[in-house]
Amino acid sequence: DISPDAYRRQHEISVTGGDVPPPFTSFEATGFPSEILREIHQAGFPAPSPIQAQSWPIALQGRDIVAVAKTGSGKTLGFLLPGFFLLKQRRSNPQSGPTILVLSPTRELATQIQDEAVKFGRSSKISCTCLYGGAPKGPQLRDLDRGVDIVVATPGRLNDILEMRRVRLDQVSYLVLDEADRMLDMGFEPQIRKIVKEVPTRRQTLMYTATWPKEVRKIAADLLVNPVQVNIGNVDE
Ligand code: ADP
Ligand code: MG
Repeated sequence: DISPDAYRRQHEISVTGGDVPPPFTSFEATGFPSEILREIHQAGFPAPSPIQAQSWPIALQGRDIVAVAKTGSGKTLGFLLPGFFLLKQRRSNPQSGPTILVLSPTRELATQIQDEAVKFGRSSKISCTCLYGGAPKGPQLRDLDRGVDIVVATPGRLNDILEMRRVRLDQVSYLVLDEADRMLDMGFEPQIRKIVKEVPTRRQTLMYTATWPKEVRKIAADLLVNPVQVNIGNVDE
């Protein structure tokens, strides 16, 4: 066993914010349901990655988070698994709109998140759809009509569908901005702000980013409330 501070030092985790809970140094410590633990075991992961270990307990407290960690550090499950857990308490009728919304910059990245959500959520009967441009809207609209717990979307396509009034975001209580730095680089800021206006202010907001430049800090300050920040390694600004 290792103290929280020693674990953080060992894994180059730095945190800012009040009363930050200790990291989960093992999967068992998370209290995730057995279906999810089974999926993790089947994936063959040895232990939570540092960003998972430190961001999971914060997310499970219902708090807003900024997580800064480089590509390949396991951020996707960092936000998905606490979302799955909280879904059990927060889930609304999927037909009235998703409970979890993940914004992602590109079709490819959105699809990767969707694949991970399907894989890890299947045994918990969590439904998920992915909305992105450059593909027909028909199947995406049909998924929305059937009802889903989670929507993973690129900002452009989600805005189109919002303008058609074919999705409602008023049940969303867990909003994730993934690859926030890239979304801003790609010029999605106005679309993100438009989407967030449709999400209730009583929500949990999580921002995952590989870098922490001024523009990302600004949008975090506008959209998150008292976030805890978790950095892994040296943070590029
Ligand atoms: P990021 O979003 O930070 O770039 P990903 O979430 O895409 O990283 O994860 C990168 C890879 O690591 C994926 O293949 C994922 O399945 C795998 N992975 C996630 N969590 C763990 C873990 N705890 N241990 C080992 N591999 C993991
Ligand atoms: Mg990622």
